[in-house]
Amino acid sequence: MSESYFWWTEEQKEIAKKVESFADGLFEEAEAYFWKKRFPWDLVRRVAKEGYFGVGIPKKYGGLELGATGSCIVAEQLGRLYAVGHVFVVSMLAGLEQMLRYATEEQKEKWLPQLAKGDKLGAVCITEPFAGSDAANVMTTAEKDGDEWIINGKKRYITGAGVSDRYFIYAKTSDDLDAKKQYSHITSFLVEKGTPGFHLEKINKLVPNGYITFDDVKIPDENRIGPVGKGWNVMMAGLNFERLIAGAVYVGTLKDIINILFWYTQRRIQFRKTTNQFPGIQNEIADIIAKYRMGRLFAYNTAKQLDDGLEPMIDASVAKWVISEYIRDAGLKAVQVMGGDGLTRFYPVERLVREGKIGEIVAGTTEVQKMIVYRFASMLPVYNHPMRMRWNDEVNAPVVSKKESRFHGLELNEDNILKVIAHDYKVNPGLYMSPDDVREDIGGSRSAIKKIIETLEEQHLVVIHHDRQGKMVLVKATYEGLKKAFPREYYQWYPDWYSEDDKF
Ligand SMILES: Cc1cc2nc3c(=O)[nH]c(=O)nc-3n(C[C@H](O)[C@H](O)[C@H](O)COP(=O)(O)OP(=O)(O)OC[C@H]3O[C@@H](n4cnc5c(N)ncnc54)[C@H](O)[C@@H]3O)c2cc1C
Repeated sequence: MSESYFWWTEEQKEIAKKVESFADGLFEEAEAYFWKKRFPWDLVRRVAKEGYFGVGIPKKYGGLELGATGSCIVAEQLGRLYAVGHVFVVSMLAGLEQMLRYATEEQKEKWLPQLAKGDKLGAVCITEPFAGSDAANVMTTAEKDGDEWIINGKKRYITGAGVSDRYFIYAKTSDDLDAKKQYSHITSFLVEKGTPGFHLEKINKLVPNGYITFDDVKIPDENRIGPVGKGWNVMMAGLNFERLIAGAVYVGTLKDIINILFWYTQRRIQFRKTTNQFPGIQNEIADIIAKYRMGRLFAYNTAKQLDDGLEPMIDASVAKWVISEYIRDAGLKAVQVMGGDGLTRFYPVERLVREGKIGEIVAGTTEVQKMIVYRFASMLPVYNHPMRMRWNDEVNAPVVSKKESRFHGLELNEDNILKVIAHDYKVNPGLYMSPDDVREDIGGSRSAIKKIIETLEEQHLVVIHHDRQGKMVLVKATYEGLKKAFPREYYQWYPDWYSEDDKF
C-alpha cells in the first residue's frame, strides 16, 4: 500500500486504500486495452460506479467532497490504468473548478451531478490549430443571436474528443483590441455532443485525442458559463487545481516503474550476477525512488495548500513541470535498465517515455510553467530580499551586507551622488544600480536623486538605462565619471600574493 501523509483526514486515508486496491484490480484489464486499442468504456464505467469522478465535487451535487487532496489520491491511482487516467482527469477537470466558481446555481444543479456520476464524460477545449501556448489567441467565435449563441471554429488535441458528451469550450466574443489587451474577448460555453453542426474532425493516430469542428453550432445562452468576456478568468480559475492534478496523475506510475524494475532486475542475470547487483542499475532505481518520493510529497503538499484555501500558483506549476519531467526521465531510465526488453512493447515501460512527454506538453508546456514560476516568484518579496554587496574594509573585499552605507546621510549633491555610483563600480564592477539602490546608500528624496542623476548624465558622468515607458530604471558611472569621483588607486585591488613588481 502507498503511504498516507499525516495531514490526511480519515476519509482521505480510507479512499486512498480503496482506490489503490480498485486500481490494482483493474490493472490487467487496463493493460489489455493497450493491445486492444479501444477506448476502455468498461473501465470508465466502473470508475464512475465507484463515484470517483465526483471526488472533488461537493456532496450537495452528488460528489464525495474530498477536495484537492482526494482528487490527487484518485488521480494518482487511476493514472496507473492505461488510457483511463487521462480521460478521468480531463473529464473531472472539464470545468469543475470553473463551474464551482462561475456557474449559476441552476447550471451547477444541471451539470455537476452529471460530472460526479461520470456516466457522461467531459472534455476541455482550449487549444486550436493556430492557438496553443498562446491560448488567448483562440479564433473560434461565438456570436450572440437572440437567446442563442452561434459557434464557429475548430479545436484540436482535445482529450476525450468523440467519447465525451460535454465540451467546455472557450470562444472569442469580441474583436475589440482593447478587450483583447485586457483579456476580456473570450467567453466560455458548454457544448453537448449531438448539437447540430458540432462534429468530430480527426482522431490523432498515436495520441488518443482529436480535432473537433463547429459549423454554425447553436447553443442556448444558459450554456454560457460565467459572464460574457470573462472566459479568460474562467479558464484561469481552475488552473492551479488542474496543473496539480495533471502532475499527480503520474505519481502512481512512478511507483509502478520502481516495482517493475525491482522485479525485473532480480531475475535478469548478466556476467553471472543478477543485474540488480550492478551499482549503476542500483543508482538508476534509487534515482527513480527519490523522484517518486519527492514528486508525491510535493503534489500532496500543494493539494493541502489548495484545500486550505490558498492559491499555490508557483507550487502547482512546479508540481506539473517536475512530475512530468520525473516520469519521462524514469521511463527512459527504466528502458535502459531493462535493455532491449525495455524497448519492446512486451513490458509497460517504453510507452511511459511518451506518457511523460505528453505531461510536459498538456495543460501548459513545461516552458510555460517555467514562465509562470519566474513571473510570480519575481513579484514575491520572499525571493526579492536584496543581496546588497558592500565594501568591507576589514577584509578589504565586497561582502553581502545589511549595514548602512558609508555614504548615508551625506548632502544630496552631484559630487556625492556620483561618489555613490562610482563606489558601486568598486563593489560590483559589471552592474548598474537602481535609483532606489542609490537612495538606500545616501538617503533623501527619490525625486531629488533622480534629478541629480539626470544632470550627471548631461555631463556624461553617468549612463541611465530607461524602460520602454522611458522611466529611469538603472544607472552606472561612465569611465569619465569614475575618474572624476575617486583617484585611480581607489578602484585598485590585488591579492596578497601578487608581486609588487607587476603592479602598475
Ligand atoms: C496528449 C495531449 C492531450 C491534450 N489535451 C488537451 C485538451 O484536452 N484540451 C486542450 O485544450 N488542449 C489539449 N492539449 C493541447 C496542449 O494544451 C497544447 O499542446 C499545449 O498547450 C502546447 O500548445 P502547442 O502544442 O500548440 O505548442 P506551441 O504553443 O506551438 O509550442 C511549441 C513550443 O514552443 C514553446 N513556446 C511557446 N510559447 C512560448 C513562450 N512564450 N516562451 C517559451 N517557449 C514557448 C512551447 O513550450 C513548446 O515547446 C493536449 C495536448 C496533447 C499532446
